[in-house]
Amino acid sequence: MSTILPARHQRPLPLDQLILRDPPGAEAIEMDVVIVGAGPAGLACAIELTRLAEREREAGGNLGELNIAVLEKAGALGEHSLSGAVVNPRAFHDLFPDLNPSDFPFRQPVRGEAVYFLTEGRAQRVPTPPTMHNAGFYTGSICEIVRWLGERAEGAGVNLFAGFPVDSLLVEGDAVRGVRTTPSGLDRDGKPGSEYAEPTDVTAKITVLAEGTRGPLSQAWREWQQVGSANPQIFALGVKEVWETKRPLESVIHTLGWPLPDDAFGGSFMYPLGKNQVALGIVVGLDYHDATLDIHELLQRMKLHPLFRKYLEGGQLLEWGAKTIPEGGFHALPARRSGDALLMVGDAVGFVDVPSLKGIHYAMHSGIYAARAAFAALQAGDTSAARLSIYDKMVDESYIIADMYRTRNMRLAFKDGLYVGGFKAGLMTLSGGKLFGGRVDMPEDAAAPRRLDEPREFTPDGKLTFSKLDAVFKSGNATRDTIPSHLLVGPDVTGEVADFYSHVCPAGVYERVGDELRVNAPNCVDCKATDVLGPRWTPREGGSGPKYRAM
Ligand SMILES: Cc1cc2nc3c(=O)[nH]c(=O)nc-3n(C[C@H](O)[C@H](O)[C@H](O)COP(=O)(O)OP(=O)(O)OC[C@H]3O[C@@H](n4cnc5c(N)ncnc54)[C@H](O)[C@@H]3O)c2cc1C
Ligand code: SF4
Repeated sequence: MSTILPARHQRPLPLDQLILRDPPGAEAIEMDVVIVGAGPAGLACAIELTRLAEREREAGGNLGELNIAVLEKAGALGEHSLSGAVVNPRAFHDLFPDLNPSDFPFRQPVRGEAVYFLTEGRAQRVPTPPTMHNAGFYTGSICEIVRWLGERAEGAGVNLFAGFPVDSLLVEGDAVRGVRTTPSGLDRDGKPGSEYAEPTDVTAKITVLAEGTRGPLSQAWREWQQVGSANPQIFALGVKEVWETKRPLESVIHTLGWPLPDDAFGGSFMYPLGKNQVALGIVVGLDYHDATLDIHELLQRMKLHPLFRKYLEGGQLLEWGAKTIPEGGFHALPARRSGDALLMVGDAVGFVDVPSLKGIHYAMHSGIYAARAAFAALQAGDTSAARLSIYDKMVDESYIIADMYRTRNMRLAFKDGLYVGGFKAGLMTLSGGKLFGGRVDMPEDAAAPRRLDEPREFTPDGKLTFSKLDAVFKSGNATRDTIPSHLLVGPDVTGEVADFYSHVCPAGVYERVGDELRVNAPNCVDCKATDVLGPRWTPREGGSGPKYRAM
């Protein structure tokens, strides 16, 4: 049987674009700290920095006002944010000790939960594994959470720049001196058009990379500084929808099994978001074996199952979106997450606990620790790698690493398939991670060969199930058609590889036309699956991409 090896068709990272040794431009904006990405990690970092600065001022310290900038690629805060989400509120309590849970931007407390094993027509309830208990947590929309955190950050004096994607790190020797944003207003050939605006340089004593999953800047910094990890990072793609329903959902639901094939790792979720809204999605590891597997289509099929159908029928699709999740866990964490004038936080590092599908509170707490390390470094007037390595120590001694160590091999066990993996994961849970505790080797996702199976036919009905084109419309994506492509296609892309990309991409960016690949770049919703398995994703003009509201 013929196979495709995705890595054979991938380009290396464009390091010459991502790491620049140019001196900053004369008009550069000067900051103390610049944070790339206004997700929960970046915003928690900014808020904690303002708290520390205020406390220092009150105590008569001499550091003075801190200039903090957060640069975000989305046109408005939250528009590129996508999660489940069931939220563990502990980072909120730490960051806002004077507030109550009812003040936080959550939709509702988790009132019950159920896990089901699905076959095509049936749902068998199974005991909830301890890693999936959510009592004391809340459901919410990360778009709303991010907007709320943004308001708090802005109120505390942080400079928030939405619509400013960072294109490159500005470096000198081994130190990061700041960032350069993307230009905007380029035409399809990459030439300045009538709306052209030049890139902006922002220099800073410390740069914090909070760019989320599969960030090209974090990848580039690690490659440049040769920061490795025991295992390569691996990823899953989550495709998600928000629905208005006719009947309320009471419990948080997770499922295993159908519609996934046995040799793919993943599962689905459906969360209540108040009286008449639910969030539902499917998450699938990108090391799956069948080249025709299509995760958007799996979600569409899944909604036809009676378990989901009874809630969705007669309701309305409000929003659609997709995003990757770093799944490698403890063994895929970079050996260090700090360097000369540089810190990395949140999903950019891979702080996600896969068995519980949680990353928000880890992202926020890593941002808080980064703020503490950055503040101490600014106070000491020393932002060297040695001084900032205190951040690694704080994270290593925190509950983030304790949690991730406990579940270190659970995701990796599933490379043996659903049944063997499920059995091993159960024993790992019972033994607190001790059983099968040695590191399981994992290749990177692009190194897993794909079988060329026969594609299955699926025709969306436009009521319960939707095509990729309709889905992109529901993401709010209104990127201008004349934008140059930000996707760097690799070598030897045959018709079969083009077909494979068309299945990987949930947003219909790739099409096979004859034996050629057609790239509809404006459709891209920045999920980054392509960067894991196909053409490289690079930052593009600010405000492009989705406009999520309640993802
Ligand atoms: C389908 C799905 C379900 C999930 N469910 C849950 C859940 O139920 N509970 C939970 O706790 N976690 C869940 N997670 C994980 C959680 O969402 C992440 O761990 C968390 O969002 C990480 O926060 P972050 O700030 O590190 O990254 P992000 O939230 O991804 O934020 C990064 C920000 O950086 C911006 N950015 C990226 N590149 C650039 C650039 N070059 N320039 C400027 N800005 C840039 C992005 O637009 C984004 O706003 C889920 C994730 C997915 C995908
Ligand atoms: S082109 Fe890549 S990053 Fe963009 S939506 Fe498709 S898979 Fe996601």
